[in-house]
Amino acid sequence: MAVPHVLIFPLPLQGPVNCMLKLAELLCLDKEIQITFINTEYIHQRLMNYTDVEVRFGKYPNFKFVTVPDGLPEDNPRIGDQIRLIIEGVEEVSSPLFKEMVMTTNSAPTCLIVDGIFTFALPIAKEAKIPLLYFDTISPCSLWTYLALPKLIEDGEIPFKGNDLDVLVNGMPGMEGVMRRRDLPSFCRTPDVDIPIIKHVIKEGKHIVQAQGLIFNTFEALEGPILSQFRALCPNIYAIGPLHTQMKAKLSSQRLPNTPTSNSIWKEDVSCIDWLDKQPNKSVLFVSIGSLATMSKAQFFEFWYGLVNSDTRFLWVQRPGSIIGLEDDNNNVPMELVESTKERGCIISWAPQEEVLARPSIGAFLTHSGWNSTLESIVEGVPMICWPYFVDQQVNSRYVGEVWKLGLDMKDVCDRITIERMVREVMDVKKIEFLERAKYMSDLAIASVGEGGSSYQDLDRLIEDIRLMRI
Ligand code: UDP
Repeated sequence: MAVPHVLIFPLPLQGPVNCMLKLAELLCLDKEIQITFINTEYIHQRLMNYTDVEVRFGKYPNFKFVTVPDGLPEDNPRIGDQIRLIIEGVEEVSSPLFKEMVMTTNSAPTCLIVDGIFTFALPIAKEAKIPLLYFDTISPCSLWTYLALPKLIEDGEIPFKGNDLDVLVNGMPGMEGVMRRRDLPSFCRTPDVDIPIIKHVIKEGKHIVQAQGLIFNTFEALEGPILSQFRALCPNIYAIGPLHTQMKAKLSSQRLPNTPTSNSIWKEDVSCIDWLDKQPNKSVLFVSIGSLATMSKAQFFEFWYGLVNSDTRFLWVQRPGSIIGLEDDNNNVPMELVESTKERGCIISWAPQEEVLARPSIGAFLTHSGWNSTLESIVEGVPMICWPYFVDQQVNSRYVGEVWKLGLDMKDVCDRITIERMVREVMDVKKIEFLERAKYMSDLAIASVGEGGSSYQDLDRLIEDIRLMRI
C-alpha cells in the first residue's frame, strides 16, 4: 500500500498561503504522511526572501515544495483588484501543471487539499479518482453567503432594489435578522449579477459540497450554527482552527521549540516590538489593512487625523503601495500629524502581526477584517474596529460587531470624526466591556485546540482520514 501523500495547493495570496503552510506543518508532524506543497514562483521567492520557511520545512524529510508559474507579468503587484487576474492565471497556467502532478504514476498523491476557489480541481480529482478536500481559508460565515447567492438572485434580493444598504436581507438560513445589504460580500453591490466574480463564487459553492470533505480555519464555539448549516450539505466538515494556535499547541505538546514563526511575503519590521514593550498595558491601537486592501490618499488622511485626534497611541502598518497616490505627494503631510505621531505613534511597513497582537500593550486592532487577522485578534483577546475592504471582509466585520460583539463595525465610513469616536469607544469608554468579551472568546478559541477540544478532535480525525486514503 502506498504511503499517504497529500498534494496541497493554496490560492497564491498571503492569507491562504499562511494558513495552508500551517496545516502542512501540522500534517508533517505525523511522520507517516508525505506532503507536496505547491507554491507559485512569485510567492515562493518572497517566502524564501523574508522567512525561515526553507530551514523550518527543511527539517521534515516528508515535506517538499514545488513551484509553478502564475501566468502574471513579474511586475504585477498582485494586490487589491488583481485577485481576479490571479485566479484566472492559476486556472490557465498553473492548473495544467497541477493536473500533471495529480496524474503522475511516480509517487502519486493519495489526497488533494486545495483552496475552495479552485473549482478546476474537482474534475481533475474525479478523473484521477483521488479524494479531494477543499480548504476554504475564508470564514464559513462568508462562504455561507456565497452558497446563498443563487437563491438571493432568484428571489430578487440581488441586485438591490433602491439605494438603501441598511435593508435586511432575507433568504439566508442561519443568518436571519443579521445581514443587511451592506454586510453581503462587496461584489453583491452590483447592478448586474452576470459578472465573472459572482459566476465564479456561485460555481465555487456548487463545487465545494461535492468534495470528500471541507476544511475550515474556525472553531465550533465561534461558528457552530453556520457549521451545522454546512454539515447538512457536506457532512464531512473539519473545523480545525484557529490554525496558528493549533500549531503552537501541537508544538508545545510534543515539546518542540515553540518560537514565533513567520510565513510573511513582506519583510517584517521587528523593531516595533521594542517600541510596543515600552508602552503601557492595553494602551496601543494596532492598525493594519492586511496584504491586499488599499485606501485612497483622502481616506489615508482621514485615518491619520482620526487616530491623532483620539489621543491614543498607535502602531500603524503602512504597506508599500497600499495608499494610492501617496508616493507623488510624500512631502505634503501636515506637520501637526508628523509631530503628534512622533509623540505617540509608530509607523512601519509590515509587522510580525501574530507577535504584535500578543503583546500586553495592545489594546485594540483597527483591521480590514481579513479572516486571518480576525482569528489572530480573537485568539489574543484583542477587540476590533472593523473597516472591511472587499469580498468576505464585509461579512466578517458584521459578525465581529453584531454577532460575536467583539468590536465595532465601521464599514462604509471613513471620516476622522467617526474614527476618533470609535477609537475612543473601544480604547476608553467601553474598554472593559470589550476586553471582557474578547477574553471570553479567546478562552474558547484556546480551549478548542487543547486536548479534547473541538478543533483538536477535528484535526485528529483529518489526520486519521488522510492516513486511510491510500491507493
Ligand atoms: N500580516 C502580517 N503583517 C502585517 C499585516 C498582516 O504578518 O503587517 C499577516 C496577518 O498576520 C495575516 C495575513 O497577513 O495572517 C493577512 O491575512 P488576512 O486574511 O487577515 O487578510 P488579507 O491580507 O488576505 O486581506
